[in-house]
Amino acid sequence: MLNYKKKNIAIGFICHDIAMMAQMAHQIAVMYLGNIVEVLPGENMKDIVSHPYTKALMGSVFEIDMDYTKPIESIDSEIPSPLDVPPGCPFQNRCEHCTSKCQTEKPELREIEPGHFVACHCL
Ligand code: SF4
Repeated sequence: MLNYKKKNIAIGFICHDIAMMAQMAHQIAVMYLGNIVEVLPGENMKDIVSHPYTKALMGSVFEIDMDYTKPIESIDSEIPSPLDVPPGCPFQNRCEHCTSKCQTEKPELREIEPGHFVACHCL
């Protein structure tokens, strides 16, 4: 079997299925409107997701043992046009934690724990 670390080989996989990525990736970068909003290890990612968008994505994952009587949460509002991304945080019009700072200043990715980066003013 090929030892990817020994050979310095990395494989990038672009996918819309975060549940599948959580099963197979060592490291995951979550993007929203062309911006990386969170980078985190794939292992146990559902326990450490922090960005509101990543949390919403994880909340949409179906699991065999989930409570099917609970309503499925959806993100309010529509995704903005990629040709007209608002200033500040790209997720602002869909985020329940949005503040005035979020509307003017784009959050930078910062490390909140080793190997875990988030672009959010409220974390
Ligand atoms: S920066 Fe503000 S709007 Fe953007 S995800 Fe964080 S809390 Fe929400």
